[in-house]
Amino acid sequence: MIVAANWKMNPSLEGAGALAQALITRRFEAVQRYLFAPHPYLVPMSIRLQGSDVVLGGQDCHADTAGAHTGDVSAAMLRDCGAAIALVGHSERRADHGETSALVRAKAEQALAHDLAVMICVGETLAEREAGQAEQVVIDQLRASMPHDVPSGRVLIAYEPVWAIGTGKVASLEDIGAMHAAIAGELPARQNGTGAPPIPVLYGGSVNADNAAAIFAVPHVAGGLVGGASLDAVAFDAICSAAAAAAVG
Ligand code: PEP
Repeated sequence: MIVAANWKMNPSLEGAGALAQALITRRFEAVQRYLFAPHPYLVPMSIRLQGSDVVLGGQDCHADTAGAHTGDVSAAMLRDCGAAIALVGHSERRADHGETSALVRAKAEQALAHDLAVMICVGETLAEREAGQAEQVVIDQLRASMPHDVPSGRVLIAYEPVWAIGTGKVASLEDIGAMHAAIAGELPARQNGTGAPPIPVLYGGSVNADNAAAIFAVPHVAGGLVGGASLDAVAFDAICSAAAAAAVG
């Protein structure tokens, strides 16, 4: 099982240090934890997390290797600052920065080319779900966002219904199961039938200490991408404990 913290544009540097301290004092059997920290915190967090099993990641990277892109960060910079993974295609970037799936794919390919793993986010809006288009939208996003070559073990997917992110609204277990089954059906084709191990697919969208166990018990759910609750050390630990319990069945 995988539990990934997405701090977004939070917390203060002091708060980040306290959260990192809480992360390194715990270990969870059969759970891989990831931390997507704000870019300015990557170096201090990589120092704090040294010797721990938490994998550090950046929340985005540019689609180009280097150049005139003021304010942006390259995949190589993430790697050089201690990240081992990049999050790409988060719905907040798709919405706030007009990122298309083609751009997300280019970013994912940059990350892979610079020895990073990549977590690619997909998800439908409420209007798309209400129009009965959720599955088609997500599969289309997936097809257009996935890199052309998928190196074994370095690509992860996060299914995050946009309307469930940061809202306290969670998709029903039935809807999560249906979407994860659809994604699991699509992924082998993206891996060109190489027989590589299955790509993990996480659920994200208002995962918290109370709902995590039920979500992690849904077939094809390999863990959670956690925003708000990852800023609360106690809640995040509880989510990781739920993942550990799910991992042992
Ligand atoms: C996220 O940031 O990807 C997310 C799922 O946020 P939240 O858990 O707050 O809904």
